[in-house]
Amino acid sequence: MKITFSRFDLRLKHTFTIARGGRDVSPVVIVELEHGGIVGYGEAAPSARYGESPDSVSGFLAALNLTAFKTPFELESILTYVEKAAPGNTAAKASVDLALHDWIGKKLGLPLYRYWGLEGGKTPRTSFTIGIDSPKVIEQKVREAELYPILKIKLGGDNDEEIIRTIRGVTKKTLRVDANEGWKKREVAVERIKWLEQEGVEFVEQPMPAADLAGTAWVRERVNLPLIADENSLRLQDVPKLQGAFDGINIKLMKCTGLREAQRMIGTARACSMKVMLGCMIESSVAISAAAQLAPLVEYADLDGNVLINNDPFDGVRSLDGVLRLTDRPGHGAVRLEH
Ligand code: MG
Repeated sequence: MKITFSRFDLRLKHTFTIARGGRDVSPVVIVELEHGGIVGYGEAAPSARYGESPDSVSGFLAALNLTAFKTPFELESILTYVEKAAPGNTAAKASVDLALHDWIGKKLGLPLYRYWGLEGGKTPRTSFTIGIDSPKVIEQKVREAELYPILKIKLGGDNDEEIIRTIRGVTKKTLRVDANEGWKKREVAVERIKWLEQEGVEFVEQPMPAADLAGTAWVRERVNLPLIADENSLRLQDVPKLQGAFDGINIKLMKCTGLREAQRMIGTARACSMKVMLGCMIESSVAISAAAQLAPLVEYADLDGNVLINNDPFDGVRSLDGVLRLTDRPGHGAVRLEH
């Protein structure tokens, strides 16, 4: 089993700004796991919010020693070893998880969703994300998102009202809001969420800082819109702790170390009567296609990382009228494009 990896800079169509800052390029690390003539592809999209960078991913992967394992079918043992190799490094760990799953799907000749007994036609609609920007650019982005029936709006700054008014001036579509921990005071969060309810917003993601879970529970008692955890919902062990503070969780492969743990988080969320959203970072079609394999299991999808970039090195899952279309390609279904 041979692992190779290389950095790739994803170029954003628009500067992407959220409550924590903006960027034009988003580096990822693409992983190739080769065994018996089959290559499984993985991807790490490291986030500084969680202490990772392309260098930390490369360092983590370079230090792995998989010589003790004979085949990717030993996925459970391999990922247990990878998990214990170092704390954190969740995107780096996810890249190995994705490559192993892709390899197994290819070896068996099955798309992962079918391997898991899921129906490809049961995926939810996916939202298109509109970052924080000037009214003029936001109007342009909303027009570009014409084919998406649901928009996810990044808020949490000083111009929340201006952004929503701009968008409502252009479209009546369903909106979802992500504050990315931007509302630091409970009273502010309650006031904004009540206002957003009147503006036709479906739910609010991570209104308060992850460190203030009690504050989020306080807010939830005073608003009607469902609250979805993102920065509070990283790994499996976080899920039960969120009962009472959130109505659902946003699972991202890069936060939770990959498909194996994501499946467990979905099961745990169900046991806690919580809804599930599948989210993403700025990612190529490798990680987006991998996450999409789980989409038949969830209520909400926000898997648009690959459509926010203009140099995707892979072709994978696509959405039609905002609905994710899973294909018959084996594994996660992302294939490398020739350059
Ligand atoms: Mg979020």
